[in-house]
Amino acid sequence: MTTPLILVTNDDGIQAPGLALLADALKALGEVHVYAPDRQQSAVGHGVSLWKPLRVTQVREHWFQVDGTPTDCVMLAVRSLLGRRPDLLVSGINTGANLGDDVTYSGTVAGAFEGMLLGVPSFAISNVSHNPRHLDAAATFAVKLGRRILDHGMPEDTMLNVNLPDLPYEELAGVAITRMGRRNYQDEIIRREDPRGRVYYWIGGADPTHAQESGTDFEAIEKGQISVTPLHRDLTNHAAMHHFFEPQIEL
Ligand code: MN
Repeated sequence: MTTPLILVTNDDGIQAPGLALLADALKALGEVHVYAPDRQQSAVGHGVSLWKPLRVTQVREHWFQVDGTPTDCVMLAVRSLLGRRPDLLVSGINTGANLGDDVTYSGTVAGAFEGMLLGVPSFAISNVSHNPRHLDAAATFAVKLGRRILDHGMPEDTMLNVNLPDLPYEELAGVAITRMGRRNYQDEIIRREDPRGRVYYWIGGADPTHAQESGTDFEAIEKGQISVTPLHRDLTNHAAMHHFFEPQIEL
């Protein structure tokens, strides 16, 4: 068997400590290539740069920075620059949670989502703290999960969204397979005045709260567990289709 080819990206930018830790740890599984944004790209979602040229700069062996989004990075690497399809894609280690409804805003999750769309077994991994002290625990788990995926594969049209509480590896309370929870975003808009007395707004100033529901990613984090949520490529609400059959929507 040839050495597995592993693509690593993130949305916190190429300087982020979580990226280096992740890329170093994954060397245990194969040849690691990093394609990451040249700056902070958190919350850019699944954005693609269609209206500007993209520059790719090598910063060291197998490390490239791109002046674009995480999705740009994955597209360029998988569809062109790597030369062959990677065996695994890991996006992270993100600083800050990607739980519940936040996944659609997340550049970290989008990097893995793009990998899935391109047929690469992919997962996103985040530490829920904005000031994490135990990123190494996420790196250790990424190697374990990556090995499992290389050995046992990934279900079709599926990616994994992984979140860890900010705990030392030995203090983690196990691994929970979870579903997406729900955020309450109503407290999210901060209104302030600038030094010249003009009003400005800041979105996402504070961490939003979430619904207390069992089996969710939020619950796992509260219990000190690693949350692993399988996300499906198909966003269709199949059960809701019937609602629109009767009365039928006429032309
Ligand atoms: Mn981020």
